[in-house]
Amino acid sequence: MKKSVIGFPRIGKDRELKSAAESYFSGKLTENDLLNTARALRSEHWKIQKTAGIDFIPSNDFSFYDNMLDTAVLFNAVPKRYKELELNPLEEYFAMARGYQGDKGDVKALAMKKWYNTNYHYLVAEIEDSTEIKLTGSKPFDEFLEAKSQGILTKPVVIGIYTFLKLARLTGAKTGADIESSLISAYKSFLERFSSIGAQWLQFDEPSLVMDMTEEDTALFTRLYAAILSSKGALKILLQTYFGDIRDCYAKAVSLSFDGIGLDFTEGRRTEALIAGGFPADKILFAGIINGKNIWKNNYKATLDKLTEIRRFAEDIVLSTSCSLLHVPYTLESETDLAASRKKHFAFAREKLTELSDLSEIISSDEPFKHPKYLENAEVFAEKRGGEDARVQEKTGSLKESDFIRLPPFAEREKAQKEKLRLPPLATTTIGSFPQTADVRSNRAAFRAGKISEEEYTAFNKKKIAECIALQEKIGLDVIVHGEFERNDMVEYFGENLNGFLFTKKAWVQSYGTRCVKPPIIWGDISRTRPITVGYSVYAQSLTNKPVKGMLTGPVTILSWSFPREDIPLNESTLQIALAIREEVLDLEKNGIKVIQIDEAALREKLPLRKSDWHSEYLNWVIPAFRLVHSGVKAETQIHTHMCYSEFTDIIPDIDAMDADVISFEASRSDLLIIDALKAANFKTEVGPGVYDIHSPRIPSVEEIKTALLKMLEKLPKEKLWVNPDCGLKTRGEKETVPSLENLAAAAKEVRGK
Ligand code: GLN
Ligand code: ZN
Repeated sequence: MKKSVIGFPRIGKDRELKSAAESYFSGKLTENDLLNTARALRSEHWKIQKTAGIDFIPSNDFSFYDNMLDTAVLFNAVPKRYKELELNPLEEYFAMARGYQGDKGDVKALAMKKWYNTNYHYLVAEIEDSTEIKLTGSKPFDEFLEAKSQGILTKPVVIGIYTFLKLARLTGAKTGADIESSLISAYKSFLERFSSIGAQWLQFDEPSLVMDMTEEDTALFTRLYAAILSSKGALKILLQTYFGDIRDCYAKAVSLSFDGIGLDFTEGRRTEALIAGGFPADKILFAGIINGKNIWKNNYKATLDKLTEIRRFAEDIVLSTSCSLLHVPYTLESETDLAASRKKHFAFAREKLTELSDLSEIISSDEPFKHPKYLENAEVFAEKRGGEDARVQEKTGSLKESDFIRLPPFAEREKAQKEKLRLPPLATTTIGSFPQTADVRSNRAAFRAGKISEEEYTAFNKKKIAECIALQEKIGLDVIVHGEFERNDMVEYFGENLNGFLFTKKAWVQSYGTRCVKPPIIWGDISRTRPITVGYSVYAQSLTNKPVKGMLTGPVTILSWSFPREDIPLNESTLQIALAIREEVLDLEKNGIKVIQIDEAALREKLPLRKSDWHSEYLNWVIPAFRLVHSGVKAETQIHTHMCYSEFTDIIPDIDAMDADVISFEASRSDLLIIDALKAANFKTEVGPGVYDIHSPRIPSVEEIKTALLKMLEKLPKEKLWVNPDCGLKTRGEKETVPSLENLAAAAKEVRGK
């Protein structure tokens, strides 16, 4: 059986692409050096896949920042404001990704959104009325030829027309219908160009097909592809879907003249049922059976059983990953500190390539179940993994309904908190972290390497905290934070201080642009043995009369940004984490912390892609799990939460039902539509919509923030409105952070005075 990979991680084994790009941003590396690093990485990644025996190796899965952005640039969807800067192409590309502030102008970045239900972010293409959509870029062709010159005939990948159209934002008066024909022509030219340079297969990524589709959507999908496929000539086209099943358009998809259809058999709950209803004999089924989102070893027995089923309905099968391997770390080989007894349970991107070839080999042998590779795999799954804790299971088992309800009700608490905290209207605060400057990182690195003692390490952090508090007082912020200098990452930090987690050295996964995260692995049952954040929070509070906000990560986010277990349900893991964080909340309160923020940055991201699953598969357990964390505190203790993502217009009642006292969220890169929705839904929780974008180094002016606040005040009463940036400041430098916060405080003050 042949093997296909949907996409391969591009950041590099040691995050070489990140280092090179960031050095280029800071002017330490030339454009040419950056291009060379990129070329070397691509070449290495192709070779690895070739060596692993992959038959369908992707190209154009590489990106300097994001593939949606690449596709926008490919089709000339570059908004005027960037063109007017008159930068060179790469600079213009990065201006769209990161914003531009320099001698040529001052322009914000494109909006950034989460890529379906992953922690990867894509840039939202903007199509203006004046945008002339046509094929102008050459990246996919260049990369194809680059691989070809190295003796590798790749399968170029691009975001498909339907998904592109669904995710792009039309900023003027034009509608999708107005740009349909030019977009079709652009994709046709794309096809023709590939035919002319010798490609055999093209992969169109269409994850939007796993979302709920209306009849109009399926008609649109059919119309778009009927038109495009008429130009395919001898080229073979793979319709690649992932992150779920394509129940709404399956019938249409199999009736169009695609040559291959890629379906997700790991996340797509109905995929098997769909093909059981018939799969055309003239098409190849690219069966996504290797999980591209989690790091557990594939269970060959289970997969072979599944494949036996699949083969009843489809003759021609290619084994594939379930989605791009972008969402898993590079290789287990870098994990030299992980015990062999643990390591054998995992497979990262490179190891997943081996799984594909193992499975293909096993399946074509005479006695698959006697194949040595099969037996070796079966042995791993036969033994008990360990990590169970009976006390934890007993605790979650004995939870009562009342444990999930905080009393008194919100209105009473709001009053008690106003009296206790005495904050001004439009209270200012930040989301928690302050810039993780080089000294902060080297202090942590030195401690980890055993070069400094714990006392020295802590003393340095305390010094940073004291400086941070002094800075916030000087700026005049109302609710102070300690700055999170002791945290490498908001999830890893808690994981390291709880029982049940495993850690990796280099298991980085790209989150946005050059930013990567290193999710811990949930190995066993989770519990807390000692206070985690109390020491630093209490110290910070001792330095100021203003309230210091305790800073915790919530259970849904800890779970979502870890690699979860596959042997117990997600809600069971979430409750275990919720109970551990609850103990921390109560300890903070007991030690005099009056405001506690429980970040649920990832809550929105994991919302199932289909509306019909929202409550039954998710909200029904995550919202109560959040309440369990804070239901034990006193009325006057103010609970904040933060979500990184403001697209929750459709679940506002559920967000309110988290029953926090204040919620801050990202709003600056998207428009303020969410505020209308909050008003319409009579949202009770106080809100802090981010007034500036921290994902870009740009400094917002006082005027700009004032305008945003005044707009918000048209919809929200001033008693309910908080003023804050849209996320934590840790990825920013001090250079832009200090003036940005000064402008924020000044804007709040001026608006208050009105
Ligand atoms: N408190 C965290 C911080 O400021 C929240 C980060 C996040 O939302 N991703 O870094
Ligand atoms: Zn955030």
